[in-house]
Order: sequence, then C-alpha cells, then structure tokens
Amino acid sequence: MTAADIAARLHGRKSGADWLAYCPAHMDKNPSLSLRDVDGKVLVHCHAGCDQRRVIEALDARGLWPERQRVQRVDRSAVAATYDYRDEVGQVLFQVVRTEPKGFFQRHPDGQGNWINKKAKRQVLYHLREVLEAPIVFVVEGEKDAETLRAQGFVATTNAGGASAAWLPSTPQRCGVVR
Ligand SMILES: [Zn+2]
Repeated sequence: MTAADIAARLHGRKSGADWLAYCPAHMDKNPSLSLRDVDGKVLVHCHAGCDQRRVIEALDARGLWPERQRVQRVDRSAVAATYDYRDEVGQVLFQVVRTEPKGFFQRHPDGQGNWINKKAKRQVLYHLREVLEAPIVFVVEGEKDAETLRAQGFVATTNAGGASAAWLPSTPQRCGVVR
C-alpha cells in the first residue's frame, strides 16, 4: 500500500511530491493529511496537529496502513509486562519483557540507565532471593503463573524463557516442578 493508495481511499489529491487527504483522526473539512512514500514506507503528517500515532491508528482501523509497517510498530511499542530478575542482593540482572501480540524477549541494564535488548550473561531463577530462603518452592512455566502462586502466599519461581530454556544447574534440589 502506497501513499497514493491511501490518498485515493481518503479522497485525496496530489500536492507536489506529497499526497494530501482528509485526516481520519479528526473532523477534517480541508484535506490536512500529508502522505509521502519514502524508501517503501509511507510517512504521514497531519497539518491540523493530530498526533502521528493517532493518525496511524485511525488509518489502521480503516485497513489503510501497510501490514509490514503495522507489525514493526507493534514490535516496538507493545510491552505488555516486564519481570525483574534479581541477584542475591536484589540487583536487577535482567528483565523478561512480554509483548502484545504474545512474545517474549530479554533485556539487561547497561549501567547508564538504558536497556540492552539481549540476554544477560548470568541467568538466575525468578525471585532468586526468596527461592534461596524458602523450604518449599514451586517451579512453574512462566512469570505470570509464578506471580499467581506468589499472590497466594507461596514461593514460586520459573526459568527465564519458560519450558524451552535449559534448566539452570543452580536449581535447588528441593524444587518440585508444577505442570
Ligand atoms: Zn488530523
């Protein structure tokens, strides 16, 4: 889908190098949405001041946003939940990030207040400190299930990466696996 395709559906017209169409994100009486093809992507700008994200959502809702760009946008923005993995003294070693649509990735602090979207060298069990102290520990698949058990007063942990990850050699022998 090109700028011309989108403009055609929004009763737009050519305007120099751009296309000008009625903005779907506000009550547009004069065409105020600029559309331009750049490197196979469509750039949008509403001259009436609509937030770009709102414009894209409005286009998307009408089926007027290229699938490839839509997917890229979701990957970047849709963090559904984050789970801190800490060491013995409570320092965050890494985070497991759950995205929407459902996906997971790991990131770790770079020491300057930013995240590096890569697996940390040292992998530990979720809620390691509690695991080390508790007489009975439940091992579940995924942070969400661990949180559910914790909410009921149990000590629960999981392997980062869930069932597909290799079981950590440091896992205490007393852990029982709950399926
Ligand atoms: Zn607008």
